[in-house]
Amino acid sequence: MDRKIRSLVQDLFETMRAARGIGLAAPQVGVLKRLFVVEIPYQDAPPDRLAIINPRIVSRSREREAMEEGCLSIPGVTAEVVRPRSIVARGLDPEGAPIEVQAEGLFARCIQHELDHLDGILFIDRAGVEEREAREKMRKFLEERRAEKAAASAAAE
Ligand SMILES: [Zn+2]
Repeated sequence: MDRKIRSLVQDLFETMRAARGIGLAAPQVGVLKRLFVVEIPYQDAPPDRLAIINPRIVSRSREREAMEEGCLSIPGVTAEVVRPRSIVARGLDPEGAPIEVQAEGLFARCIQHELDHLDGILFIDRAGVEEREAREKMRKFLEERRAEKAAASAAAE
């Protein structure tokens, strides 16, 4: 794998850590490559860390769980998303060697969330229907309020 990929991986890790995130995909920083990094720190264990290129999920547990998710691309928004509890992913490491990762819990969730970014899917797209509806209502409300304010300030001039 070329040096560009390795330095992109380095940049992704640095950007993610600076933003206190636990995962970041290349498209989130404007690079249209199928690549992401994940790093989940734990108090009493080494972090779950992964940099993977051309990832794909080859197996998903039947067991699913709901967890609150957020995203560096949509600051301030969180939503509960149901996903398989554990997965097996395959891809290449930054050196170009094939890797297979077995993950569960938060690590598995983060991998699925980042892989979604490569396909243009955001976690709010996967959130429950009610949640999406609430968000849509809020967006409309804010738009209306903005329009009202604009009208009010135009009238005041
Ligand atoms: Zn995200």
